[in-house]
Amino acid sequence: MGIHRGPATIRSPGIFPGNLLLLLLGARWPETAPPPGRPVPDEDPRVLRQSLREARRGLSRPRRRAGPPPCATPGVVCRGSPPMVALTFDDCFLPHLMEPLLQDLEAAGARATFFCVGRIFRAHPELVRRLVAGGHELGNHTLHHRVLTPHPDPAIIDAELDGWQRAVEEALGQPYPTRWFRPPGMAGFTTEADPEILEAVRRRGMRVALWTLDIYRTLDRQGVRDPERVAAFLREHVRGGEIILLHISSWNVEGARRALPDLAARFRLVTLSEMFPPDAP
Ligand SMILES: [Zn+2]
Repeated sequence: MGIHRGPATIRSPGIFPGNLLLLLLGARWPETAPPPGRPVPDEDPRVLRQSLREARRGLSRPRRRAGPPPCATPGVVCRGSPPMVALTFDDCFLPHLMEPLLQDLEAAGARATFFCVGRIFRAHPELVRRLVAGGHELGNHTLHHRVLTPHPDPAIIDAELDGWQRAVEEALGQPYPTRWFRPPGMAGFTTEADPEILEAVRRRGMRVALWTLDIYRTLDRQGVRDPERVAAFLREHVRGGEIILLHISSWNVEGARRALPDLAARFRLVTLSEMFPPDAP
């Protein structure tokens, strides 16, 4: 588990300790369709499995820190229990891709959680109503996809969280009890929970929703933008109790749609609030 192992030695998709932090700090989903990916590297299943184990542990691996790891922090969730699986889709920068996905989810009796950016809801208020009507859940992902660290400014945190909430409620025309926040770029929740962000989230009655399986950093960032590869990966690697991080990109959406029959047959595909009911600890 060499912390100095760098991208030059990596031959297959995956997250490695040496580049995990850089990926996390630099992670920002492009707001328009991304440029063509670099060539897909050769895939070695053994290396892929190892990288998955490391990616999963990465959220809770001990590091030099003052506080507990994010997943051990009260108010942060990373994993539920089988047979539930929570599919989560972030950003929604390409909202026109969503309707076929929603139809497939609903046909499969599945519900998902969408961490769309608030400004997308401002531009597409009908999307808010569509998601809620389909039984899906909305989570706060800030108004502008703002990375809230390394120097949290309470005024910006408040404006971003409340701006998202206002965008949702204006679109719905009624209050929406938001229970989940997901930090853009994972900022503030890489090695330990940022206390200021966590407190702002708690004050609004929300918890922080991270994940166990990160399709973006495991495949997308490695140049894998092939729906069939995404689908095969989901079929092979999703386990009961997991929270899956996907994005609204053409290959993630199409990959999820192709994997859906298999996932729906093996798991209960639920929203985060179904996985963690409000009265649960
Ligand atoms: Zn995001």
